[in-house]
Amino acid sequence: MQIKTLLNRLEKHKGFVYADVSLEEGGRERLMVRIRPRKGSKPVCSVCGQRGPCYDTQKVRYFQFVPLWGLLVFFAYAMRRVDCPRCGVKIEKVPWAQGKSPTTTTYAWFLARWAKVLNWKQVASSFRTTWDTVYRWRCRAWYRRGLASGSCHTSRSLPGWGRCQRAAGRDRHSPIGRRGH
Ligand SMILES: [Zn+2]
Repeated sequence: MQIKTLLNRLEKHKGFVYADVSLEEGGRERLMVRIRPRKGSKPVCSVCGQRGPCYDTQKVRYFQFVPLWGLLVFFAYAMRRVDCPRCGVKIEKVPWAQGKSPTTTTYAWFLARWAKVLNWKQVASSFRTTWDTVYRWRCRAWYRRGLASGSCHTSRSLPGWGRCQRAAGRDRHSPIGRRGH
């Protein structure tokens, strides 16, 4: 079974296709998964969520995905800009990551789940990611739990909340940063 087949089974994104997967060597080995837009699909405006014609294509950006067999995995995708009828020329929204995050949402939640059983430093070193990534996503999980229990004070009383909050505050897409908790 090819990795592309696996990805299409587990992580299929409407309007995009996995073009190819290659093993890049030199330094740390990594699997590079190249993504391209499906033929004829229009980009989605990251501001209002409407589809519009493609204005241009930017340079390739990399998004870290869940490691496979100990190899780092990255999605590589050249972001398009949308000529949005409502907002003007804006960068497109992609379904596998939020905002300017270099981490895929799937990987971020994977890290957040591990951070429930290991401390953040252990998670960051085990999965070769940064503390900041783990903080931010752990914090989102806490925030959701706080909402579920009807109060953010639950989350505030957890150890590391202040540091987590500061990390989240730098992320404009974080519900914590946005609401100023
Ligand atoms: Zn728009």
